[in-house]
Amino acid sequence: MINFIKNLAASFVPIKLITKSYNPIILYHSIGLNSKFRDNIDHINLEILQTQLKTIQKFWKFIPIDEYVDVKNKKGLASLTIDDGYKNIIDEALEVFEYLKIPITIFVNSSTFKGKIFWRDKVRYLIDNNKVDEFINNSNLFEKKHLNKFYSISKNPIYNSIEVENEIDQFILRENLKMNNRYEFCFDNKDYLIKHPLISYGNHTANHYVLSSLTKEQQYDEIIECKNFIDTIDINKSKVFSIPFGGNNSFNSDTLLNLDDLNYKTILKSTNDLDSIFSTNEINRFMPKTYKIENTLKKMYLKKLLKG
Ligand SMILES: [Zn+2]
Repeated sequence: MINFIKNLAASFVPIKLITKSYNPIILYHSIGLNSKFRDNIDHINLEILQTQLKTIQKFWKFIPIDEYVDVKNKKGLASLTIDDGYKNIIDEALEVFEYLKIPITIFVNSSTFKGKIFWRDKVRYLIDNNKVDEFINNSNLFEKKHLNKFYSISKNPIYNSIEVENEIDQFILRENLKMNNRYEFCFDNKDYLIKHPLISYGNHTANHYVLSSLTKEQQYDEIIECKNFIDTIDINKSKVFSIPFGGNNSFNSDTLLNLDDLNYKTILKSTNDLDSIFSTNEINRFMPKTYKIENTLKKMYLKKLLKG
């Protein structure tokens, strides 16, 4: 009932009111021809993409995230960011960005270029193949009570992501399990890094670990490894850093010190929130999932109003 009232109230919010104080900074992951890509992944198809972007374009102007960060008067501006580097962004979605002339910034994980399997996919593999029970029996980190919430608990900052991945690797090796190529959807070679007027690339760390779960030195290694990789390639580069997982608990003061050392002055979060026209070095992003992006914008706005 409360939700019904909230939705009804939100429907009366004029978008023009939102544009006075807030901007939509979009975060996408996988975008492609299929309407269903795979489970547990934020994916949208090209029709939804076009609808969402055209709606935003009616009220805001898309500019690259680095320009957005630099510009003083942010009113009326939007930006489009894409995390994790799914191949379908280049292979399938790029033509939509070209058609609508919308600049994008893709934040990559450098380890995928070495053919390394994303550690979250290893977690998904254990879940999909009913191996979590067995894994937990042999784990020094996790307990029986975590069985049914393994996906979320395994990315809780209290568990060092490197240790989590090591334990899973040992289990996979010991049990002689074979992960098939069902899990290889992210950029795995430099051909996906193209010099294109609408595309820039940014740092999303080497391995997409939960930074706040790591030591300060481990975090530094994660950030500089991806930076060094990007720096060697002749592409448009972003000076903005996208926090893996993007929650307020996904990074800590060590992260910010490391980033400052490496000359990253602005971070992107994924808080499912609008960005203030006065935002400075932390930018809120949201993940629009349906055709009804206007509703999503209105609901986020109302939530802000109610929070005060
Ligand atoms: Zn990510």
